[in-house]
Amino acid sequence: MLRKFMPDLRVKTVYDIDLQSLYDRGFRGIITDLDNTLVGAKEPHATPELIEWLAKAKRIGFQTVIVSNNVRERVHLFTEPLSIPFVYSARKPKVMPFRKALALMKLEPQETVVIGDQLMTDVLGGNRAGLFTILVQPISIRDEGFGTRVNRRMEKAIVGRLRKKGDW
Ligand SMILES: [Mg+2]
Repeated sequence: MLRKFMPDLRVKTVYDIDLQSLYDRGFRGIITDLDNTLVGAKEPHATPELIEWLAKAKRIGFQTVIVSNNVRERVHLFTEPLSIPFVYSARKPKVMPFRKALALMKLEPQETVVIGDQLMTDVLGGNRAGLFTILVQPISIRDEGFGTRVNRRMEKAIVGRLRKKGDW
């Protein structure tokens, strides 16, 4: 049961992901969370560094879809200048939004990675959907809402148990 919460890869930020080596391993799609993965939860727009990272992913040959549990207004405002497809109000860890993103890219789960900052939504959902899961450290946990704070507590307990088993 705990295995479903294990990311395949753990990094500090998206910029620490070796995109080229993922491509060389056969991955072609990136499904990424938005809040606290790409920018802070209260940051309306992408930073220049992130815009460059997205462009780099595209140059290497990746398609990218943003899958967020946040509302349409937030996700739309963020993605519009970037022209990136998105799924909003996704209700991760449900599998459906990941399937939707795969359909948008016309890719199979085994060709796709998911990037996110939460075990309870991004990693659990990504593992359920059969994707390669990458956990990043949250950019800022200061402004997180009630639901996310509850998730963080569960996350801590799960990581504690995984550490005990020597899996983390
Ligand atoms: Mg997040």
